[in-house]
Amino acid sequence: MKKIAENLNKPRIEIRHDALKRVGDSIFKSECPFCETGILPVSRNQKTYKLIPFDICLYCAQRVEYLDFDDMLGVKEEKKR
Ligand SMILES: [Zn+2]
Repeated sequence: MKKIAENLNKPRIEIRHDALKRVGDSIFKSECPFCETGILPVSRNQKTYKLIPFDICLYCAQRVEYLDFDDMLGVKEEKKR
């Protein structure tokens, strides 16, 4: 619990989504590189359901910002076609 409180107070860490290990067959969900237990699910705007470039680990609460966010959206559109 202490670790979660610490991480919530830390600034966001910039990472590349394409450098993370995917979890299961999701194209977005990734293993958290900080605690290696948690998942970075990729968040959506609560109102528009659009993906947002900020994320938080479900386990250690480390906050991240995706540097390759535009590429992530590209992946999604390619899959639709
Ligand atoms: Zn984590």
